[in-house]
Amino acid sequence: MKKVLFVLTALMVVIVCMMGCDFHPATYLKVSPNSISAAKMGKTTSINIDTDGRKWSVKQHPDWADVSQNGNKLFVEVQPNHTGMNREGTIIITSSKQVAYVNVRQNGLATSFAPTDTRIHFDKNGGNKSLYMSSDGGQWKASTEDDWLTVYSYKNDYSVTIYCKKNTGDYRKGKVTVQEDNIHLNIEVTQGGTCDICHGSGQASCGFCGGIGRIYYGIYSSPCPSCGGYGSYRCVTCGGTGERE
Ligand SMILES: [Zn+2]
Ligand SMILES: [Zn+2]
Repeated sequence: MKKVLFVLTALMVVIVCMMGCDFHPATYLKVSPNSISAAKMGKTTSINIDTDGRKWSVKQHPDWADVSQNGNKLFVEVQPNHTGMNREGTIIITSSKQVAYVNVRQNGLATSFAPTDTRIHFDKNGGNKSLYMSSDGGQWKASTEDDWLTVYSYKNDYSVTIYCKKNTGDYRKGKVTVQEDNIHLNIEVTQGGTCDICHGSGQASCGFCGGIGRIYYGIYSSPCPSCGGYGSYRCVTCGGTGERE
């Protein structure tokens, strides 16, 4: 009976030690980097964990920063921040009695846009064109006040598609605005049509003689030196074609 008791006790000691004893306590624990700075849209980062301890674990992390362990790496996934406020938190990592901290900061507002282009041109037939668009906030909206334009935003593939109607009038300019929090970006849209300077005539009235072709000095007059007496000259905007593409 005593022998059985001894064996049982020994077995208990072994089990307890396997569960809780740390025969080789860590003498150091380093994390790199020890701070994370994330934009409003969030970020995934890996942190290197350097320790001589047998194992390490995360004791605390902000509920908006998910953590997962793999070998000597800690993956931190900072979630998008929709609170409208900057936030800050700490991840606490331990190995035996060693403790290390990772500071996590995140913006609450978008700070910049990354467009591929801020100018789009259509010919008079219209159509649609897309451009790449993203912000560090990830919640931008695109809109327009021009009735000849329609805008669709596709956040999944980070693009804005602009639909443009056919133009039966003058060359025109419009605007698409991309907005998020306190930042905005204007995309200039132009469309070909009848020349907006000469309205299709191909001729522009001479500003020097007021379009009459002659310059008067009292009762005398002479042909206008600017337009050569024609009162008008070929429109430089459309090159005289009356069309502006
Ligand atoms: Zn013209
Ligand atoms: Zn003139």
